[in-house]
Amino acid sequence: MKSLYGGIEGGGTKFVCAVGTGPQDLRAETRFPTTTPEETMGRAIEFFRQFEGLSALGFASFGPLDPRPDSPTYGHILPTPKPGWSNADVVGPLRAALGLPVVFDTDVNGAALAEARWGAAQNCDPVLYLTIGTGIGGGALVNGKLLHGLLHPEMGHIPLPRNPQIDPFPGICPFHGDCFEGLAAGPALEKRWGQKAETLPPNHTAWDLEAHYIALALRSYICTLSPQKIVIGGGVASQAQMLPLIRRKTQELLNGYVQAPAILDQIDDYIVLPGLGQRAGVLGAIALASPVS
Ligand code: ADP
Ligand code: ZN
Repeated sequence: MKSLYGGIEGGGTKFVCAVGTGPQDLRAETRFPTTTPEETMGRAIEFFRQFEGLSALGFASFGPLDPRPDSPTYGHILPTPKPGWSNADVVGPLRAALGLPVVFDTDVNGAALAEARWGAAQNCDPVLYLTIGTGIGGGALVNGKLLHGLLHPEMGHIPLPRNPQIDPFPGICPFHGDCFEGLAAGPALEKRWGQKAETLPPNHTAWDLEAHYIALALRSYICTLSPQKIVIGGGVASQAQMLPLIRRKTQELLNGYVQAPAILDQIDDYIVLPGLGQRAGVLGAIALASPVS
């Protein structure tokens, strides 16, 4: 009998829990708002208690988090501006209540794995998955493994050149001001332009500047990681005009230096939206739990 897995996509605003084996077989799903760690993890536990015979749980979470199994703070959320969640042990209660192995990683590492296994990045390695929403984060699959290290990559917090004459907005990252996330995540757009990102018309100059910052970041990731596919998720990237702009600006910024067909001639297939759409997150969690079949 095929093993069944549980997946938790832990987001800053909502949690999604599901049971299944992959995109063709998602059997049950529930979603609820992210409140306190106790209440939120309690609701996840309640959901998974209904299912017998789960082999493992994958938990793809917002960060920063500690994914190192040999660390005393493994399975904890690390200090975060999100009220109540700093240093919360989120894996411990799941293990204790359900008695299952839990694979814990960032939401974006999970999504990178799911896109590589089932989505837009099949047969590619390295794979970069970037989300541009409430925050900006990146996950990567490299040589068949998800990239970890000290903790996990923090691709949203790289510095980007900002010309104050063109963009006087100082950024909103509480740690760095005008890092990538501070300049280009959804809340930064809202603060800079005085309206929610989704209400800015498609021809607003906001999008050109946004694509410029995203392309600057992609240039850095392409030069350091040499990904074979870049998948961009999150609400901001879902604006229809964004991907074509990002592709063109990335080509311009690289200026012919990286002589790969993916960039020179096939950029439409190189920088793409998630093949798994809105389900990349929860399928990422299921992918974390399930070995390659
Ligand atoms: P989260 O990052 O919380 O999982 P999203 O990826 O939807 O969720 O990101 C939410 C952020 O993205 C908000 O700042 C919101 O204003 C912005 N956003 C959501 N949808 C859109 C859209 N269609 N166009 C532009 N911005 C959007
Ligand atoms: Zn920052």
